[in-house]
Amino acid sequence: MSHEGIRIVDKGQQAREDQDDQPLARIAVTPEKVRVLLTEGRGLEIDWADGHRSAWNFAWLREACPCATCVEQRKAEGRKPGQLKSRPAELLPMYTPPVKPASAHAVGRYAIQFNWLDGHSGGIYSWDYLRRSCQCPECTFAADEEPTGAPN
Ligand SMILES: [Zn+2]
Ligand SMILES: [Zn+2]
Repeated sequence: MSHEGIRIVDKGQQAREDQDDQPLARIAVTPEKVRVLLTEGRGLEIDWADGHRSAWNFAWLREACPCATCVEQRKAEGRKPGQLKSRPAELLPMYTPPVKPASAHAVGRYAIQFNWLDGHSGGIYSWDYLRRSCQCPECTFAADEEPTGAPN
């Protein structure tokens, strides 16, 4: 049995072929509905054309900013996209305002951009990037299941 491209599985299982170096099927990166839950401060929700639904909170999105500066910074700190900076333990907890964009807008047909309240706005979140960063249990499970290489 050969599996070409992305298998569309009704429920329960996400196709396992979507490795980072392989292009995703067009319907997997075509948003049918995009909801930016600004007033609620909840985050971004996308219904994809293949029936999958993804949701991200704003804190995650801010820490997953795909701009060159943020990518470099995460690399230097060894963080994954969306992973929060660890705060020094000795500091007293300070009030941090909720991470939220002031606004969001579409970039062409392929991406969305956020104008964060902290003034940052350089990140362009392509549908492809977002789909690959889907936070649903199915996708995060698949992403954790990395090939282990040669057996010990
Ligand atoms: Zn950035
Ligand atoms: Zn998912």
